Amino acid sequence: MPDQIKICQNCHHPFVYSEYEQSLDQRNGKPEAIYCPICVSIKASELKHPPKPKK
Ligand SMILES: [Zn+2]
Repeated sequence: MPDQIKICQNCHHPFVYSEYEQSLDQRNGKPEAIYCPICVSIKASELKHPPKPKK
C-alpha cells in the first residue's frame, strides 16, 4: 500500500498517512488515521490533563 495523503478531521490540513503507519494500524486492529500527527498529540496531551493516579 502506498503512502496516502489524508485530510485531518480536526484541523482540515492534509497529512501523510504513511505505508508504515497503515501497516501498524492494521496490525493493531486500529481504524485508519483521521487526525494529523499534530492533532493526535494535542488530543493525547489533553487526555493527560486531568491528573490521574497511577495504578
Ligand atoms: Zn490536524
